[in-house]
Amino acid sequence: MLTEASTPPPTDQIDLQIGELIECGRDFHRRGWSLGTSSNYSVVIDSEPLTLLMTGSGFDKGRLQPDHFVIVDENAESLDEAFPKPSAEALLHTALAKHGAGAVLHTHSVAATVLSEHFLNDGVLRISGYEMLKGLSGITTHESEAVIEIYPNTQDIASLASAIESRLTDPANPLRHGFLMAGHGLYTWGADIAAARRQIEVLEFLFEVVTQKRLLTGSF
Ligand SMILES: [Zn+2]
Repeated sequence: MLTEASTPPPTDQIDLQIGELIECGRDFHRRGWSLGTSSNYSVVIDSEPLTLLMTGSGFDKGRLQPDHFVIVDENAESLDEAFPKPSAEALLHTALAKHGAGAVLHTHSVAATVLSEHFLNDGVLRISGYEMLKGLSGITTHESEAVIEIYPNTQDIASLASAIESRLTDPANPLRHGFLMAGHGLYTWGADIAAARRQIEVLEFLFEVVTQKRLLTGSF
C-alpha cells in the first residue's frame, strides 16, 4: 500500500511514463549504452511530496517490463513493499530531482567508461568546438565548451549524492549538463524524459567523437 502522505498520480499517466522508460531501455541497450542490468532511469511523477518512478534493481534494460519499476519518495525509499527494490544509485536520482530535474537517465557506455577513467585526475572532461554541443540545454553555438565533471566511482552513493547537491546549488558555477562517474558511466537529466534523452544522445555522441579523435590523432 502507498503511504498515507502520498497521493498517487493517475495510473494512466504512470503507465505512459513507464512506456517511455521501457523505450529508453530498448534504445539505449541497442546502442550499447545500457547493456545487461546496468544503468537506471527515473521520472518525477509528483513534486509535492517529491515522488519518482524509477527502474528497479537488477533488470535487463533491453527487456524492461511494466513490473520492473518502483515508486520512491524523496529519500529513495520504496513507497510499496510489493515493488522491486530501487537501484542502489536511487539517491542520485532523488538528489537531481530535488534541484529541478524532471527525469534522470544514467548510462554505462564504453566511451563514457573509458573517458571518465582516463580524465579522472583532471576532474573534468572538456569538450569544445563541435556542432553537436548545441544539442545540450543552454548552449547556442558550437564555439562553446561543455565541462563534464568526473567523480571517483564509489559505493557510498549517499556521499556522492550530497556532493552533487552541493554542486547543483553552487551559485557561482552550478553543475550543468551531466556528470561522469569514473570507469562507470554518465548521469544526465532534463525537464522530462524527452529532454533527458536528448542530453544522453548528445553527450554519448560527443564522448564517441572525443574517443575516436583521440584514437586517430592522439589528441583532441
Ligand atoms: Zn551505474
